[in-house]
Amino acid sequence: MDEKAAAADLMQMVNGYQLSQAICVAATLGIADHLSKGACSSDELAALVDAHPQSLYRLLRALAAVGVLHEGGARQFSLTPLGQGLRSDAEHSVAPWARMVGRAYYRDAWGELLHSVRTGENAFAHAHGTGVWQYRIDHPEESVIFDRAMSSFVPALAAAVLAAYDFSGFELVMDVGGGQGALLAAILAHNQSQRGILFDQPQVVEGAGPLLRSASVADRCTSVGGDFFVAVPEGADAHVLKWILHDWDDERSIAILKSCRRAIRPGGKLVVLEAVLAPPNEGARAKFADLNMLAVPGGQERTEDEFARLFQAAGFSLARVMPAGRIDVIEARPA
Ligand code: SAH
Repeated sequence: MDEKAAAADLMQMVNGYQLSQAICVAATLGIADHLSKGACSSDELAALVDAHPQSLYRLLRALAAVGVLHEGGARQFSLTPLGQGLRSDAEHSVAPWARMVGRAYYRDAWGELLHSVRTGENAFAHAHGTGVWQYRIDHPEESVIFDRAMSSFVPALAAAVLAAYDFSGFELVMDVGGGQGALLAAILAHNQSQRGILFDQPQVVEGAGPLLRSASVADRCTSVGGDFFVAVPEGADAHVLKWILHDWDDERSIAILKSCRRAIRPGGKLVVLEAVLAPPNEGARAKFADLNMLAVPGGQERTEDEFARLFQAAGFSLARVMPAGRIDVIEARPA
């Protein structure tokens, strides 16, 4: 690649935040849901989504120039295969995640990434004066948007996890920090005689009822609100932790794991669902997720060795790692 072409590619990477934010705004406005019924003019869309007509047109034509939408004559827009992924009802909808990522409070944390890189401190706390979980308690509307974004990953991930890992031998599966219960519902629906405990912060599990009922697992699942640094419910023989440890530094992660160690049934298993970091020059997704952890919750992604050390410090031992699509199933047992 010559120098000029390389500079152009690099410039595109540098301006990537503009594309990201434009997509997030379109997702927030629900543009793709309106276009799912057919092409629409930008003026009609502006009326439907309560936007400034000329500014919305400028957003849509930019997205059409990169293939997220298609612009026909007379400012008519339609969905491309890429844009279909922004429909709320798409099987692998990216819309809930885009709605969350575009929130100003979230971008503000990324805006302080330099601070994290210079000091090792959490960018979110530097930007907002408080950690992200407390911020979401103080701003319940952000909590709702975040919980929906997290649940939206589950359909695609659950299928891969259930194919990679056999939960059928467990009697009582607890999802620790299980959000609104989407993953636990999928596990219980797959294993009809199993019971479950959904454990998360009180205000999060409060909203879990509809999802558990619609998956027809509510009668086999108890929701418990609490703080995993203090204790988790006792007696489960599987403790699932999906995207929990990466939110925290080693000290806090070990504290969560120790809560699990105290509560897990003898012979039980810890099933950690996270991406294991790849060797140098590979695995960009997890390595950027790691930066997201640095900037937002103040945690980190880990290598297999780093997981093994965490487990050991909390009285578990790493048993095996199995790839399951975009994440890994990391199994540990009480040591
Ligand atoms: N496991 C879910 C959610 C991951 S996000 C999924 O993969 O989709 C991290 C979760 O940890 C959130 O649901 C958050 O509410 C929960 N959490 C954060 N601090 C907590 C605490 N102190 N005690 C219990 N849950 C907590």
